[in-house]
Amino acid sequence: AKKLGRNRWQFYHGAMNEETRERLRIEGALRNALERGEFVLHYQPQVDLASGHIVGMEALLRWRHPELGVVPPQRFIGLAEETGLIVPIGAWVLRTACAQARAWNTMREADGLAPLRVAVNLSARQFAQPDLVASIAAVLDGTGLPAACLDLELTESLFVDDVAQAVDLLHALKALGVALSIDDFGTGYSSFSYLRTFPIDVLKIDRSFVADIASDADEAAIVVSIIALARNLKLRVIAEGVESTAQLDFLRAHGCDEMQGYHFSRPVPAEEFERMIRSGHAC
Ligand code: C2E
Ligand code: CA
Ligand code: CA
Ligand code: CA
Repeated sequence: AKKLGRNRWQFYHGAMNEETRERLRIEGALRNALERGEFVLHYQPQVDLASGHIVGMEALLRWRHPELGVVPPQRFIGLAEETGLIVPIGAWVLRTACAQARAWNTMREADGLAPLRVAVNLSARQFAQPDLVASIAAVLDGTGLPAACLDLELTESLFVDDVAQAVDLLHALKALGVALSIDDFGTGYSSFSYLRTFPIDVLKIDRSFVADIASDADEAAIVVSIIALARNLKLRVIAEGVESTAQLDFLRAHGCDEMQGYHFSRPVPAEEFERMIRSGHAC
């Protein structure tokens, strides 16, 4: 039994080392990634369901590692949060996305087209930075993007720590003129209470609810209710993860404002997104 115990320990120990090495390797690489210009943003169109026109885009981070290839956010955002690296990375995302949106809107204005909104994901660490509001104001100022063209996507996990402080912060952000979205809406535990407490503009229905709307009556009922809730509270409502025509038809029939998903387009590099908006691609 002793021997088995030791072997087990050795096995466990070995696995830990392997995992730790991998973490340290990614963390080290992550530290250098910004300077080396290894991050890129992909953009996923947000489509107005009534007109079929692209009205905005969500900026989604990608890491092009020279050896690991394209690393998806799920594999490094957590580590970037833990180490605090998400703060400079997030600042880069915000600057890059706003500058890109401004450039596209200048191009569209010349063609007589309406400006696009850009949605940027904010992490908990960024949310906790004392200079968050000032830094966002500086980015809007520096890029010339009107505040009304920026959506900040927040998850409800950002609100749990200090509610009163979060309320103040959201009011200060709103005072800049930006829109505040609740990402992954419906997946938290207190969705209703924070709708009453926080000055939110947009609900993004989590894709786990959208997945089965065309086949599951319960999921369909939930999505219909979220859309009705948004309407009654005068919030914009966006469905994420729309992959099929059946889902699209359902959402349109029930008055959802916008949709985002593979059915229309995956997140794509900036050049490809630009081709999409130039060609007036519609669904
Ligand atoms: P999210 O904010 O919920 O972003 C939506 C995710 O759903 C994206 O994954 C997108 O590619 C994916 N998606 C879009 N349409 C569909 C669809 O029709 N079907 C399916 N199955 N998936 C779809 P992605 O780009 O891998 O990002 C994952 C998460 O990483 C994001 O979830 C967000 O939480 C985080 N993230 C991405 N970029 C940033 C960033 O710049 N800053 C921060 N803090 N987090 C980010
Ligand atoms: Ca998001
Ligand atoms: Ca989401
Ligand atoms: Ca999600």
